[in-house]
Amino acid sequence: MSTTPMMEQYLRIKKDYQDAFLFFRLGDFYELFFDDAKKAAKELEITLTGRGKGDEKIPMCGVPHHSAKQYIRQLIDQGYKVAICEQTEDPQMAKGVVKREVVQVITPGTVMDTGAFHDKENNFLVALYATGQKEETTLAAIDTTTGEFRLTKLNSMDDLASELAVYQAKEVVTMDSFPEDILNETVKPMGITVSHVDEVHHHTPDHAVEGLDDIDMRNAAEVLFEYVQRTTRRVLDHVQTAEVYIRQAYMHLDAYSKRNLELTGTLREQRKAGSLLGVIDETNTAMGGRLLKQWIGKPLLDLDRIASRQRMVRSLMDYFFERQALKTALQGVYDLERLSGRVAFGNVNGRDFIQLKHSLEQVPHILALIEDIAGDDSTPLIEGADACDELKALLETSIREDCPVSITEGGLLKDGYDEQLDLYREAMTNGKAWIAELEKSERDFTGIKSLKVGFNKVFGYYIEVTKANIQSLPEGRYERKQTLSNAERYITEELKEKEQLILEAEEKSEKLEHELFLAIRDHVKAYIRPLQKLARTVSAIDVLVSFAEVSERLGYVQPELEMHGDVHVKNGRHPVVETMIDHGEYIANDLVMNQEKEILLITGPNMAGKSTYMRQLAHLSILAQIGCFVPAEEAKLPIFDQIFTRIGAADDLAQGQSTFMVEMMETRRALKHASRESLILLDEIGRGTSTYDGMSLAQAVIEYVHDTVQAKTLFSTHYHELTHLEESLERCHNVHVAAKEEDGEVVFLHKVVDGPADRSYGIYVAQLAELPREVIERAKVLLEEFESEADTTSASKRHERIQDEQIPLFDADMSQPVISDEEIHVLNAIRELNLLHLTPIQAIQLLDELKGKL
Ligand code: ADP
Repeated sequence: MSTTPMMEQYLRIKKDYQDAFLFFRLGDFYELFFDDAKKAAKELEITLTGRGKGDEKIPMCGVPHHSAKQYIRQLIDQGYKVAICEQTEDPQMAKGVVKREVVQVITPGTVMDTGAFHDKENNFLVALYATGQKEETTLAAIDTTTGEFRLTKLNSMDDLASELAVYQAKEVVTMDSFPEDILNETVKPMGITVSHVDEVHHHTPDHAVEGLDDIDMRNAAEVLFEYVQRTTRRVLDHVQTAEVYIRQAYMHLDAYSKRNLELTGTLREQRKAGSLLGVIDETNTAMGGRLLKQWIGKPLLDLDRIASRQRMVRSLMDYFFERQALKTALQGVYDLERLSGRVAFGNVNGRDFIQLKHSLEQVPHILALIEDIAGDDSTPLIEGADACDELKALLETSIREDCPVSITEGGLLKDGYDEQLDLYREAMTNGKAWIAELEKSERDFTGIKSLKVGFNKVFGYYIEVTKANIQSLPEGRYERKQTLSNAERYITEELKEKEQLILEAEEKSEKLEHELFLAIRDHVKAYIRPLQKLARTVSAIDVLVSFAEVSERLGYVQPELEMHGDVHVKNGRHPVVETMIDHGEYIANDLVMNQEKEILLITGPNMAGKSTYMRQLAHLSILAQIGCFVPAEEAKLPIFDQIFTRIGAADDLAQGQSTFMVEMMETRRALKHASRESLILLDEIGRGTSTYDGMSLAQAVIEYVHDTVQAKTLFSTHYHELTHLEESLERCHNVHVAAKEEDGEVVFLHKVVDGPADRSYGIYVAQLAELPREVIERAKVLLEEFESEADTTSASKRHERIQDEQIPLFDADMSQPVISDEEIHVLNAIRELNLLHLTPIQAIQLLDELKGKL
């Protein structure tokens, strides 16, 4: 194939960016070629064309450079990378093909443009480094927009998975030599883009790893910054000093539990509304919003730290008016972290500085208020926070409040900031004033009333006289410049001079302003670190204020926390569910767990509120351990080191694993990793398989937790038969969610009370679904038979018995089955039904189908 010099250039560049879409700048367009073009045309729904002639046509598509952002965004969201290749010399000056270079590679983890994501979301890029120990990895994470930089070590793939979930990492970078199996088993299944670097060249900023002597962590940082350097091609001045943390300092929540408990997003759509975060986020700044989300992912284990947060929340609740003032001040603070990022990247404009100035104006107020309110407790928070007064003063004297977005067209700086600039401006003003006078003086001079002075881009200033009046103009003074259909335009010597002066002054002042602005920007760079510190202080204050707000508005109480303590919740509520149902209809419930009641076996009909009750305890504990108050009348809680959940997740199926397999894997995780200080929530274990299988598994799991794990455990089940375990397992205790039958219908009371549920309400649900009366009646009779037999059977032998008794449905002595095969089929189908996952239409169709079988 013959290629043009430009295509040769393209192919040469593309060779180095095989894994990215190459956006190749051609005039006003970015063009894509070959496979890039085919793929992009499909992803972006743009037209695929060709370049060249006949058979040698090269597939091509393009996007205008001014709207490229949105297309890039689309590709990044899909997990792709985009390499931006710009013309790096003026095409008019170029000999031969214009020089081009890749100036930036945009990847899911290194998006810089703030328009691309939500302000209250971080965007972390994670690097992993294998230490060589089995399953052990070192993790380095950076948010390139805010400069947050963290390091930690992880001991297992489970830990890695949950840490990646904490960061909501979209991209992970490793060395080529990193173990494939960890990537394949843990990273890729989470839908994370994996990138590699083949070697590292030390791009880690020294201050970022100051004093760090852990060699693995340094290596992880090297991998991270190598990649950041390769993609962003910039120096990251705003990287913060590494926050090295030990995972064990925080409550461990695995990725599944985080999702299942809907801490920061709902299960199905990952929406914030409807999650715990959605209820308690009343932060006033984007930074605070991000920090709150981080706190929820990492509840504390250290009692002192929790207590200190609690005391501040308490004070903030007590000082109502000061808190209102604090809120107002916080609302005036812009995103200092992202602002610092943009300063470091050199893409700030005058408006950013105005925002920065307004933010800094609020700071002294905020610091003084929190000190007033929280006293000594606020010291660790505000220690070292510098209000950057000098910077504020600089911005106040320099940047105009009404400055434009552009930094090259003037109008940025205040009068009085720079003497030379003032002189240029004066020249402009004087010149313009003279011209403003000109119309009147020329009219007077010529006697032509309709004479006009105007300006256009091509000809500059002119004096316009209609054709009818031309003869009144004196000779020699006016030089013709432009002829219109019924007028002539002229200039005079003097006007030309003034115009020259104005234009010159304008050009010079724009240039000077630009230079001065860049100098200010450089000056601000020196403040990046104090600004980041300030950002951290302000965001923590913001989160605590949010805690106080929510606690007051929703009637939360300060929980009493104790290491190895008991659970004693009086009238607790589920923080999310209570906000979703009509006011006052939420039924508060007590929850007590202690040495005698380590496992609570929760029975009750479907939809009674079992899983709500279980999740409630998890939410209360998480709220307590991040320092927030909790929805209850009184709450005493232990410090849980980990929370494990196995709670039905609707989207497990979509991920291609059978529900039952997922159920067993999550159960395994809990049984393997839980300690005595952990909380385990197991919802309807065994539901995913046949009844006897399921029941046996459930019982075995409970026994194992009781005898071996000894973690506090809530276990819900609709296997009523399991309630007998209370007799054989001494720390197992029955509670049930009360329901009552009223006029042949079940009424859910949502009240949790001691003891086992006295019956299964499945039949009543079937009745609600209007199954044929014969079926219902027959089922009732059978139930009574089973129950009376179960009573005479010891718990340990119970399930063998029932297995035997499955036969009597087909009474051997009778030629006719007691109930037909079809009916059994229908009953089974109903038993397997999950009403929660049916739409009303589906339910009707199903009923129709079932009825057809009878
Ligand atoms: P189960 O796990 O027993 O099937 P859920 O916990 O899913 O039941 O609860 C079913 C519905 O009942 C919830 O969606 C909620 O609307 C309502 N509910 C649960 N607990 C309560 C409560 N304590 N007070 C009021 N409504 C509740």
